[in-house]
Amino acid sequence: GALLEMRGVMKVYPNGVVANRNVNFSLNEGEIHALAGENGAGKSTLMKILFGMEEPSEGEMFLRGKAIRLGSPQDAIDIGIGMVHQHFMLIPSFTVAENMVLGMEPRTGVSFNYNEAVRITKEYSAKYNLAVDPELKVRDLSVGMKQKVEILKALVRGAKILILDEPTAVLTPQETIELFQELKQLKEAGHTIVFISHKLKEVKAICDRITIMRGGRTEGVFGVQD
Ligand code: ADP
Ligand code: ADP
Repeated sequence: GALLEMRGVMKVYPNGVVANRNVNFSLNEGEIHALAGENGAGKSTLMKILFGMEEPSEGEMFLRGKAIRLGSPQDAIDIGIGMVHQHFMLIPSFTVAENMVLGMEPRTGVSFNYNEAVRITKEYSAKYNLAVDPELKVRDLSVGMKQKVEILKALVRGAKILILDEPTAVLTPQETIELFQELKQLKEAGHTIVFISHKLKEVKAICDRITIMRGGRTEGVFGVQD
């Protein structure tokens, strides 16, 4: 069965816009799954629902067949879902290490001193081959580096399913190549990745399956490498 399933998802925003209509979406464990469709198709809304940022008006979600309810991003993080936003949720005046542990203390009950934050950053950086300098301030990082920090932040919080919202839109071609290598490594390590993209070349390069959305509906799910 699927690792994660969304069934019959409907989202009507308070202003009356119907962003998702009876959407079915499923993820297999260990796949890189592209989510494609024109602007306004409903991709971001569906992913916000999956990360607990928006509540669906109707529909159900299942993790390994078990019904789940996501009332907040923290609920999503708690069950191993991580989000890499297009506009990074990092504090520019803080170091990478500080950003890495920020907000984790109340949840884990662990108090991180600076050395501990640096150690954790180095540990995950080495484990996932995502090279970042823990002591640099985020404001001094390139966009590609900031993205690596966001990916690491999700991994440090235990993400097994990683959602990336048009991650290449802000990257140089060289940074894009690096990101694809990193995503392939995450896949090999058993992670499941949702990759929002409408660039055919990118989808063909790294994705296993693709779900196409149009007008708030899923048009179909296809194998990419078949
Ligand atoms: P995509 O990510 O595919 O571009 P979105 O999910 O962002 O699609 O948008 C789907 C539809 O929902 C669009 O018509 C968009 O204008 C609308 N929409 C998105 N967010 C909101 C919101 N917070 N309030 C009202 N309408 C929204
Ligand atoms: P709040 O409780 O402040 O309203 P949310 O419920 O939106 O915040 O989020 C709960 C927790 O998830 C917060 O600690 C927030 O920092 C964290 N969070 C939100 N988005 C992300 C993200 N993309 N990656 C990691 N943590 C996030």
